[in-house]
Amino acid sequence: MRPFEHVRCVSAAEAVRAWHDAGNEAAYYAGGTELLLLMKQGLSRYERLVDIKHIAALGEIASTQQGVVRIGAAVTHRRLELSPELQRLAPLISRVERDVANVRVRNVGTIGGNLCFAEPHSDIGVLSLLLEATMTIQGLDQVRRVPAWEFFRGPYESAVEQGELLLHIEFPACREGTRTGYQRFRHHERPSCIAGVLLEPGEDPGNCGRAVVAIGAAGYVPQRSRSAEAALSGRTWREVAAGAAEAAALTAAESDPTEDLTGSVEYKRHLVEVLTRRAVLEAVGRMEEGQA
Ligand SMILES: Cc1cc2nc3c(=O)[nH]c(=O)nc-3n(C[C@H](O)[C@H](O)[C@H](O)COP(=O)(O)OP(=O)(O)OC[C@H]3O[C@@H](n4cnc5c(N)ncnc54)[C@H](O)[C@@H]3O)c2cc1C
Repeated sequence: MRPFEHVRCVSAAEAVRAWHDAGNEAAYYAGGTELLLLMKQGLSRYERLVDIKHIAALGEIASTQQGVVRIGAAVTHRRLELSPELQRLAPLISRVERDVANVRVRNVGTIGGNLCFAEPHSDIGVLSLLLEATMTIQGLDQVRRVPAWEFFRGPYESAVEQGELLLHIEFPACREGTRTGYQRFRHHERPSCIAGVLLEPGEDPGNCGRAVVAIGAAGYVPQRSRSAEAALSGRTWREVAAGAAEAAALTAAESDPTEDLTGSVEYKRHLVEVLTRRAVLEAVGRMEEGQA
């Protein structure tokens, strides 16, 4: 690897300043699981790595009075997997984190690094759409908030502009009675297809008031299926279970898969359909068992 300067920062403002002082020749460095690989392979070169792991605010998991869980960008996957607070407030995140990568990557890789790298086969991308997260981003002069549906712009491209620092991600805490299903398929290191379903009870607890369906790893960016959501919302739980296949077909039709090393367009569309149907049935099954 070519030599580089390592600058350790203790505040977000200091980190942003250190990035800009290097005049476009810097990168933020969190766990390094993606960044250092690129640098070792000579695909990226930076004169300065701005180390953000020691910024206290970026390492916090906190819940606010507004019913929001705020996760600092430098929180590792392993902490998300094991956090008792998260298991209580947003249990799906911990559940999914158990299967992300391997324990070595989870120990150092961060939620912010995952989102900023915007690798198409990301679990966190799907989770952030499914749970309707909001990202807070700091630049030199301003702090701005971006909803998850505007965050992913393309493969390896997010709403975080050059020199901006992702500060934290906010997830609404899980509403009482909400049920989730999450299915992923992988035969390589990263998933080839992911489908997540969230079902919220309506005013009548015998009904599904609102459904969210999100898929990922099939195309360049994670996607929601509005047609499947409309088909599942406002139905009794029995109708939701019976409508799983229809919702899955709608999601597959709405999906925009891309061919890559993990499969062809047809294959991925088929995976989307199979996994969405299973995710709907998993969420309904969890309702019957009283699990989130
Ligand atoms: C073997 C392997 C298997 C994997 N499997 C999965 C999987 O199953 N599911 C899944 O979702 N992911 C998977 N991943 C991806 C993994 O989750 C990411 O590699 C990790 O989260 C990246 O975090 P990091 O802290 O190491 O990022 P880094 O490598 O430090 O940074 C990645 C990029 O983001 C930028 N960056 C980092 N933090 C910030 C910030 N706060 N603000 C602005 N820019 C920032 C960096 O400059 C760099 O460009 C896998 C990775 C590996 C290596």
